[in-house]
Amino acid sequence: KMGNATLRKELGNASWKLFHTILARYPDEPTDAQKSHLRTYIYTFAQVYPCGDCARHFIKLLKKFPPQLNSRKNAAVWGCDVHNQVNEKLHHPIYDCSNILEDYDCGCGVDEESEDY
Ligand code: FAD
Repeated sequence: KMGNATLRKELGNASWKLFHTILARYPDEPTDAQKSHLRTYIYTFAQVYPCGDCARHFIKLLKKFPPQLNSRKNAAVWGCDVHNQVNEKLHHPIYDCSNILEDYDCGCGVDEESEDY
């Protein structure tokens, strides 16, 4: 069995991957409904994140840095910045957010036309 630290890291890697990928696929010009869906997702994600200390810390971060939901770029850069806040706390390297949309391309672009949130 892997050690607890390794397991927690794996959970973090997988969670951040999905988190940033969702933000990088958020619409460029979201409707009010789409904004509301992403806002709900982010706050619920924070509430249910399985590492309790992480969740508590992340909920505090959301108060200080509320989600930016006006466009894809806004949302993705916000997500990158908030992850950097966690990196800072853990003394992990700060990530360069300038290519965040390309970094989290999921190959789902062909579905763009038929997007229905
Ligand atoms: P991770 O931080 O998991 O990042 C994975 C990969 O994403 C990196 O290799 C890099 O390619 C990329 N990346 C790094 N920074 C960014 C960025 N800013 N934007 C986009 N991509 C980036 N662990 C704790 O010990 N204490 C906590 O309080 C804590 N809180 C957390 C809160 C949340 C919401 C989440 C999802 C995780 C939390 N974690 C916490 C886990 C922690 O953030 C890391 O996931 C874990 O320590 C593994 O780190 P890592 O170096 O492998 O890279």
